[in-house]
Amino acid sequence: MILNINTMRKENRISILLIAMLLVAIVPFSTAQDKKLPNIVVLATGGTIAGSGASATGSSYTAGKVRIGEMIDAVPNIRKLANLTGEQTANVGSQDMNVKVWLILANRINELLAKDDVDGIVITHGTDTQEETAFFLNLTVKSDKPVVMVSAMRSASALSADGPLNLYNGVAVAASPESKGKGVVVVINDVILSAHSVKKMLTTPVHAFQAPEHGQLGTANFGQVEYFHNPHGLHTTQSEFSVEGVKELPRVDIIYGCADVSTDLMELMIKAGAKGIVIAGVGDGNINTGTLEAAKRVTAKGTHVVRASRIPIGQVLIHGEVVDTKWGTVASDELSPQKARIVLMLALQKYGNKMSREKLQELLINY
Ligand code: ASP
Repeated sequence: MILNINTMRKENRISILLIAMLLVAIVPFSTAQDKKLPNIVVLATGGTIAGSGASATGSSYTAGKVRIGEMIDAVPNIRKLANLTGEQTANVGSQDMNVKVWLILANRINELLAKDDVDGIVITHGTDTQEETAFFLNLTVKSDKPVVMVSAMRSASALSADGPLNLYNGVAVAASPESKGKGVVVVINDVILSAHSVKKMLTTPVHAFQAPEHGQLGTANFGQVEYFHNPHGLHTTQSEFSVEGVKELPRVDIIYGCADVSTDLMELMIKAGAKGIVIAGVGDGNINTGTLEAAKRVTAKGTHVVRASRIPIGQVLIHGEVVDTKWGTVASDELSPQKARIVLMLALQKYGNKMSREKLQELLINY
């Protein structure tokens, strides 16, 4: 049927024009679907990968400037890997990432991955809290389809920006059937790292992300994906946590251990609303005697306290130099303070503060 716009009634013409305008707005993300390619949704949250600065050789820039359509279009041949759809979930430097956005992301990913015509997710993110978002999603996404986080150490306008290749590799990893069942992964600087083990180890170089305890899961080289290992810890479909319909999580604060740390911090945090505390302790999750005595007081009243370490590599031992049963604490095992905090928030949301120390200890070991 051929429509002649000139002979139509005015209201029909307006509707047709509105539909046409809408189609033009959607076109960048739905161009010529290739039935042989997987369908990947890219959820953008901001970060340096979407950052832009005044000078290509200066280190100063603002995170979260470039929007998702522009970012995808800047990567040559990326649409040969997958049919891509983009959504702008947030646009922040990841120092401003928060629980609210985590909950929106997790629920949106679960909604998308439940559809037969969505094969995987890529999330663009800032590097500063990327490992926390990855770990949170690893525990709350309910699908074995690939979920891949990508980021960049150099802004989109910087000389040798690393974002475009990281995004290209991230899409290749999400499109690979081998990524199924690996939990949430981070793809950066040609390596694939599991959400459980990934850590930002360096402040600014492009090789900032590593998995010092368990090593990389695999590599992604100009879109060639190869896995060597499976991830450590329970994840996604094996996780007991769900955030469906959840609007907020209990507040958990972190105390940073150092010589002569103020011993009133724990009780001040609880007074301010914290429902659980993580200690980023010295050495093997240790902290001064005054803070351990505070832990004994607050745990006796039902607030859980987890001992983690400010040291980036290694385990915090249960009953090591600190005897947990004496102070009422539990040990983070392999989890960094920021990842132990996520387990404690989800555990408090699911089980409340009546959860036993033994149960919390088991969760910290299992995830
Ligand atoms: N502050 C930035 C962010 O995390 C750093 C980065 O993305 O590399 O968003």
